Amino acid sequence: MSEARAHVITQHQADTSRRQDIIHPSEMAKADWCPRATYLRIETGVHHRKTFGFQTLNVFDTGHEAHRKWQNRAWQLGWLEGNFKCLHCAHIWWAVSPASCDGCSSTALEYAEVPVKDIAGFQIAGHADGLLRPIRKLLEIKTVGEGTYRFEYPRLLARHTLTLPDGSEMVDLKKVWADTRTPFPSHIRQGQIYMWLARKAGIDIDGMEYIYESKFNQDVKSFTVQANPDAIADRIAMAHDIKQRLGTHNPPPCPHGGCGDCAPYTETPPPPRRRHRTT
Ligand SMILES: [Zn+2]
Ligand SMILES: [Zn+2]
Repeated sequence: MSEARAHVITQHQADTSRRQDIIHPSEMAKADWCPRATYLRIETGVHHRKTFGFQTLNVFDTGHEAHRKWQNRAWQLGWLEGNFKCLHCAHIWWAVSPASCDGCSSTALEYAEVPVKDIAGFQIAGHADGLLRPIRKLLEIKTVGEGTYRFEYPRLLARHTLTLPDGSEMVDLKKVWADTRTPFPSHIRQGQIYMWLARKAGIDIDGMEYIYESKFNQDVKSFTVQANPDAIADRIAMAHDIKQRLGTHNPPPCPHGGCGDCAPYTETPPPPRRRHRTT
């Protein structure tokens, strides 16, 4: 067990596959997004990575598994559109629920999602989780647990938190789940960014289908959100501002007056130590 834990942490630290020279839709959708930190990461090429412990990385892996599970279900239904990759000949092509590689006929395929980007105007690139052809919806899959609510929807958690006679607090998770009636604000923004990019790329969609899977009880809810670029106009403007400034060494201000994300970039390095000669 301890070997597996160490392996998960080492593997994550060694993984540099996530692009750092672009704005990720997920980061610009966050409530507390710091465009200054994003700008400085892109311009300096330095990524101050957060370090994650085993439990958090295990949560990420559970999220990835849920993605594969729901994508495979949509694939088997004949609904899944996007890029598919052949594990035999590495061919990548756009298709709707293919059974085999159109290059070599292998059936060992992997879904490579729906790449969307606008680098030229906004420096944004990412992947939507899927595209459901018959209903013309992009797909977004979320696994949500108490931690997700704490970060993304604390008001809902507070509404169902009881204070016990001894002063301790208890969250009524059943009620939290029952009262989950819309996607979380940052998830809606993230979806709107994907929809905006997909439409710019000429992909015919009219909304986003969210699948929420509860970590409390594995129950599933789905929500449909119509495309509405007005909901992310401020975020798009900030991305455009970053794009305009790149290369000028003039980062945008931090909207929080300094925060944990941009601080590592602005801390001045300590002056070099003088060597004192002892005589
Ligand atoms: Zn192939
Ligand atoms: Zn900041």
